[in-house]
Amino acid sequence: MNANQDSSPDHDVIIIGAGVCGIYQLHRLLELDVDVTVLEAGDGPGGTWYWNRYPGCRFDSESYSYGYSFSKELLDEWDWSEHFAGQPETLRYLEHVVDRFDLEGHMQFGCKVDRCTWDEPSLTWTIDLHDGRSLTCRFLMTAIGLLSAPTMPSFEGMDTFEGLSFHTYFAPQEPVDYDGKRVAVIGTGATGVQVIAELADKVGELEVFQRRPNWCAPLHNSKITPDDMAEIRDGYDEIFARCAKTPGGFLHGPDRRILAEVPVEDRHQFWEELYNSPGFGIWLGNFRDVLMDEEANAEFSEFVANKIRERIDDPALAEKMIPTDHGFGVQRVPMETHYYEAYNRDNVHLVDLNETPLERVTPKGILTSGPGSETTEHEFDIIIYATGFDAITGAFDRIDFVGADGMKLSDKWADSPVTYLGVQIHGFPNLFTLAGPTAGSNSTNFPRGIEAGVDWATELVKHIAANGITRVEAKAEPEAQWTRHVKDLYGMLLLRKAKSWFTGYNSNVDGHDRTRYLIYNGGAPKYRELLADESEAGYPNFEMS
Ligand code: NAP
Repeated sequence: MNANQDSSPDHDVIIIGAGVCGIYQLHRLLELDVDVTVLEAGDGPGGTWYWNRYPGCRFDSESYSYGYSFSKELLDEWDWSEHFAGQPETLRYLEHVVDRFDLEGHMQFGCKVDRCTWDEPSLTWTIDLHDGRSLTCRFLMTAIGLLSAPTMPSFEGMDTFEGLSFHTYFAPQEPVDYDGKRVAVIGTGATGVQVIAELADKVGELEVFQRRPNWCAPLHNSKITPDDMAEIRDGYDEIFARCAKTPGGFLHGPDRRILAEVPVEDRHQFWEELYNSPGFGIWLGNFRDVLMDEEANAEFSEFVANKIRERIDDPALAEKMIPTDHGFGVQRVPMETHYYEAYNRDNVHLVDLNETPLERVTPKGILTSGPGSETTEHEFDIIIYATGFDAITGAFDRIDFVGADGMKLSDKWADSPVTYLGVQIHGFPNLFTLAGPTAGSNSTNFPRGIEAGVDWATELVKHIAANGITRVEAKAEPEAQWTRHVKDLYGMLLLRKAKSWFTGYNSNVDGHDRTRYLIYNGGAPKYRELLADESEAGYPNFEMS
């Protein structure tokens, strides 16, 4: 690679995004002595963990299964303080990685990318930044996250509210004084559930505006003592080996039994153990047919419904908190700490938007209508929008990618993303979508998935450099096959029926009210195998010149 010669592009490689993925890709490319720069919209590294500073934000994956695995020194020197670390600690960890590997000098912050345009004659990408600057590169890598395009609702009057309001993704960096305040939370996904549980005993009044309830399960977080940490450190090889074997890259993998093989009493005992164990075991370590078979799923859902009934004092309220439109685990399961108990407090109230729809936001709060012709104005000091994301493709749609022959990525992906292995797109040469739509690395415990994706991309860069290659483009037919395969895999899982970001439903985004095929459901081990097959065979599904 020779970006420094006259008429060469500004950089061999530009990476967009300095989150978990961009940080690791930068480190790997610097090891190869590639001329690379990272463009990051935030004022510091960390991506998701830089932006999401809402109260209660923390891991749902075990901290030590989330940290990078690539450096023994890093594993040796970093101590996690909790089994599921909070956002401030995770951000500190990522900042430490950036310092430790001397990466910051290769990052440019406050760089919002507006447009990326391929130029065939010069075989370069031009990156136009919001501040008016343009940079060019030979190869462009996106590390722009899955959940980095937050969506605000479009309620009338939102801009007239006189108190503090924010989307959780843009929660203020400076501390917010919640003491005695009247607070509204809109949204009960994984984010809303964390906010609600955290704020319940810290605010004056908390009103939760719920459109659909979710199936939530206890996180069972706890502190890590120095002795625990020593044991974790000794067991890192085993931890990562275990994560490598599970479909989701987590410590928890499915129990190979199906429900019918297990006597009812034993099923319930197993489920009790899962419900009382830390982390995602209840979702990902369950009998394998719970997420595939309607009947098995219904039986387990009833088990969890009964837990919710036990935990909420008011039986009528408990029923409102039990999902009726989908079964347990077919949407992402929010992990919680005393979430249901929050509703037993006198200062916490549920507003069921099905009974009393949200009419508009007013200068003083939120106006709901019904029952009948009644309206009620709920007054607040703070409104928190935990209303989710235009997931997976949203961050791509917010950049105008223009490929060969002026093709726009937003047009190519108008129905659903079309990619080869989630890493490249026919018509968009030299663009590598690290953890992009349909990449196996985006449907896993994120660092486990991206380490595999980044390592593969790094090997490809080595191959490019060694062979003097200046243009790489996925072929059309393998891309069509991969896209069909991703779609077919949805057919096996009940999640295909859910209205959630896994399937692309999002009532805040025009046209996202039907299934799109955004994630690869074949499991992380299979995905890694497919990547390895491609590289070991000499990249037969790519046109290289
Ligand atoms: P989400 O799961 O999409 O939830 C958004 C919530 O907002 C839903 O309850 C939705 O209701 C509601 N909503 C959206 N628009 C609304 C409107 N106009 N009126 C009323 N309600 C509205 O988003 P999220 O909670 O931010 O979570 C997204 C993902 O982020 C998670 O699934 C997870 O992968 C990740 N996350 C991870 C962690 C972690 O690792 N610790 C923590 C938080 C989030 P409906 O359900 O009716 O649409």
